[in-house]
Amino acid sequence: MNQKEKIITEFRIVDINFRDQYLEEYFHCLLCGTELLYIHDTDFIYQTVDERAHCPHCKIESKNLSHKLQ
Ligand SMILES: [Zn+2]
Repeated sequence: MNQKEKIITEFRIVDINFRDQYLEEYFHCLLCGTELLYIHDTDFIYQTVDERAHCPHCKIESKNLSHKLQ
């Protein structure tokens, strides 16, 4: 590298670890990165668990999934 060249930025490309990426998205808010608070409501008559995620920073509910028991 001569004296007129300078490095402005560097990109480091690493292998994507899909397990870590999934866990990061599952436990953290996609908007701000704050750790999500999960609430699980179980309905034993309909045999379902409703899962809701709430971001305490954005004050939004970001996930609302229903899981079947069994
Ligand atoms: Zn957030």
